[in-house]
Amino acid sequence: MIERIKDTLSLPVVTELQSLRETLWLNPGVTTAEAGLKRVGLTRADADDAEARLQRFAPLLAKAFPETAAMGGIIESDAIPLPHMQAELEKAAPIQGNLWIKKDSHLPVSGSIKARGGIYEVLAHAEKLAIEAGLLTTADDYSVLLSAELRQFFSQHKIAVGSTGNLGLAIGIMSARLGFHVTVHMSADARQWKKEKLRLHGVEVMEYEQDYSVAVQQGRRAAASDPACFFIDDENSRTLFLGYSVAGLRLRRQLEEKGILVDATHPLFVYLPCGVGGGPGGVAFGLKLAFGDHVHCFFAEPTHSPCMLLGMSTGLHDAICVQDIGIDNRTAADGLAVGRASGFVGRAMEQLIDGCYTLSDESMYDLLVMLDRTEGLRLEPSALAGMKGPLHVSSNGAYQRHLGLTATSMAHATHLVWATGGGMVPEKEMLQYLAKGKR
Ligand SMILES: *Cc1c(COP(=O)(O)O)cnc(C)c1O
Repeated sequence: MIERIKDTLSLPVVTELQSLRETLWLNPGVTTAEAGLKRVGLTRADADDAEARLQRFAPLLAKAFPETAAMGGIIESDAIPLPHMQAELEKAAPIQGNLWIKKDSHLPVSGSIKARGGIYEVLAHAEKLAIEAGLLTTADDYSVLLSAELRQFFSQHKIAVGSTGNLGLAIGIMSARLGFHVTVHMSADARQWKKEKLRLHGVEVMEYEQDYSVAVQQGRRAAASDPACFFIDDENSRTLFLGYSVAGLRLRRQLEEKGILVDATHPLFVYLPCGVGGGPGGVAFGLKLAFGDHVHCFFAEPTHSPCMLLGMSTGLHDAICVQDIGIDNRTAADGLAVGRASGFVGRAMEQLIDGCYTLSDESMYDLLVMLDRTEGLRLEPSALAGMKGPLHVSSNGAYQRHLGLTATSMAHATHLVWATGGGMVPEKEMLQYLAKGKR
């Protein structure tokens, strides 16, 4: 074992993770949004460019996926308050402010947060290929890309990706719809129904008995030997990250429309389930661009897969994985079953996020049942990871004082739990989730 990893084994935070207890890590490196954003290596202009690209593709999406037509081909989710869930959670401990949820679980096309980044990267790649071939200009109506001629063109190109399920679903469905030959390399965690759904769409699915890192590695290897194949790199892609970032920018307008104030005395806390980091990292980047110092972001991970907490707290990022400290990366939260975090995202977030916390699979199942019972909202286990965050923040007076937030400001706080998936889980599968939580 390399020396740097051995040195971390005596750190209290590592011992705490090894105990598999639920834990909170507050980031000592967090600074102002202005300073923190400079570390990302991407800018507001990059995020605006992603939004403009999605606008160009809106006519195509409206035609390709009729369920998006009512929104004009814009893939976006609702944000709603959860008063009954809040009342239920408060039986255990008070929550200062109001609990809300962001329903990326119900995004059209693929039913998870991956309908942002995953679809965006496929579209960006298709646009680049078509423009380079002289088949498209940015002034065109992009629905021409659905023509037989363009379909024939895209069918000569391949796309590959490694995934625990949802990224594969988003990329597979979008790529296949445009005519690409697409291969999804699925880790052992991936649910059977996701593989079956992809095969129905004509996607090639490769299955592995190992975890996410191996699936990604295999995908990368297969793509490297084929010049016609474009590999979507979940561990490093800036394009995926920017696709996710659009959510943060759009949330500003959405909360304004709902009369939710975010300013120095009305803080916004956002809790993001984290796997490899691209989804929560990209959203957090967009949130910081939109709300500056008034938004506070936390990443949430399973006790058995705390890769981002481990990488950020030790400063080793992708040079360490949970298996290095004896943790097995086995969790029912398949969207979060990642043992090694993205080094790019970990470093980009060093000064931007307020912290990370872990929760057990049992907690996720319990919260899954509670949310169904109180609000009639059904999510997959990963998507409940954010739900513990408001309790951490509300019970931590020292943290609130450090932010300079008074009791009055906290009473005006909005706690937004990012629900990242579950809208397309088959009924039979959902009933099994609900049964586990009721045990
Ligand atoms: C992918 C995913 C996440 C986390 O996104 P990463 O980019 O892997 O960090 C969270 N929840 C669900 C349901 C997901 O599918």
